[in-house]
Order: sequence, then structure tokens, then C-alpha cells
Amino acid sequence: METFLCRLLGTASGIPTKTRNNVSIVLDVNNDYYILDAGEQCAASMLRNSLDYNKVKAIFISHMDVDHFAGLPMLVKSMILWARRQTPLQLFVPREAIADVKNCLAMMYLVDKALGFRLDILPLSEEFEYRDDNISITFHGNRHIKNRFCRNPALKDRYPDLQKESFSFCLQLKNRKMVYSGDLACPEEMDAFIGGTDILLCELAHFTPETLFQYVSTKNVKKIICLHFHPDWDERDAELLELAGKYGIRNIEMGRDGLQINF
Ligand SMILES: [Zn+2]
Repeated sequence: METFLCRLLGTASGIPTKTRNNVSIVLDVNNDYYILDAGEQCAASMLRNSLDYNKVKAIFISHMDVDHFAGLPMLVKSMILWARRQTPLQLFVPREAIADVKNCLAMMYLVDKALGFRLDILPLSEEFEYRDDNISITFHGNRHIKNRFCRNPALKDRYPDLQKESFSFCLQLKNRKMVYSGDLACPEEMDAFIGGTDILLCELAHFTPETLFQYVSTKNVKKIICLHFHPDWDERDAELLELAGKYGIRNIEMGRDGLQINF
């Protein structure tokens, strides 16, 4: 029988708070782990939640903002020192970041021969679909970073060589569908793939809760887990739940570091 659970390792947005680490999620499908984003301190959170580093099959980074990536080097280091890992690991990052990620790890002396296992750093793109016996994942580009560059006069029209790639993930298990928003410019960026979602893990930092709840109330989504909280909403779960209720949304949970979701 298929087993599936999801553990939130970190639920903060751009900066950690007193109770939240940066965003990272572990999916356990039939005892294989898939990590969605690797915010700091995902390695420590895995250990404290008794999650085995050796079970991580693949890691997917939605975009290269520091709050989604900074935990990755320590996760790799922990796989070496704690787990004595030997099995290969796949790390998927936006295409434009591959060379820099390799250099970043090499700068920390996490070079190939120091790992003890094969680390394949692979491009994540809209044209690519991840597929194995447990899960398939498609990747949907959004304007999270592009919009930031457009709106900031200091950045606008500069750095034309940067692709500014950012993705949302659509995950299909045997008979269940999960969407992870990543970071978005607006909720409508999920239009093309949100229909029929069993569980939506959605960020709450780049638009108001009202905007999100209004949007989701018109969609066929069975359950919502909010995460990646803007610091303004860090400790206001009751207010957020009440607000969601005004839009007729009942099956919703405010994510917490360590929260385990079964379904
Ligand atoms: Zn973020």
C-alpha cells in the first residue's frame, strides 16, 4: 500500500523568525524522501524530526533566493558526516544556477571526491518532468524574481544575463495531486495547474491573505496549508483562519515548523 506524508521543516519567508526556519518541505512517499526547497536550517530540522538523510532521493530548488537554498550546503555536509551516505543524490536547480551551485559547493570544499556519494546537479525547467515509481513533478515558471527586478529602479534593466528563473511545482502521486506554490508574483500564476488539487502548499508573503483566500475560494482545492509566512503574519494563526472562513474556506491549516501532514 502506498504511504505518503509531508513534513514541514521550515515555514518562514525571506528571513527566519523566532519560531520559524526558512522554507523547506520533506515528502515521504513509500519511504523515499523528496525535498522541496532547502532553506536554512533544513539539515538540523531533519535530524530533530528523526528523518534519515539516507532516504533523500531528490532535492528540488524552486528558485535561488537565499531563503530557499542556504540550507543546502549543510544538508550535503550532514549527509557526509551524519549519514555516511553512499547512494547517489539528485539535486535539481534552475538551469541558470547549475554552474554557480557547483562552484558554491566547491568553495566549501564539498567537491565530488569529498562527498562519498555521487551528487548529480541537474537542470529544472518547464520542459522537464521528473518521474519515478512514486511521483511525477512538473515545473511551472512564474514571475516572482522577474517582477522584483522590474519594480526596483536599482535593478531594472540591469543584469540582462540573469534569467531570473522561478518555479511552482505540480506533484502527482498515484491518485493524489499536490501543488507547491514556491514564491509567486500573484496567485493567478497557478491558474494553469491548480484545478483538482488535493493539497495546496501556498506561500503567504508576496500578496495579502485576502488575495490568496479570494483566489482559492474560486478553485477546486480540497485542502490548503499556508507556509512561507510574511513576518507580519508570523503569530496570527487565529486571525488568518477567521479570515479564510469569511471566504468559505474551512479545510485550511497554518503551517508550523515540524508539522506533519497525512492524507
Ligand atoms: Zn522565499
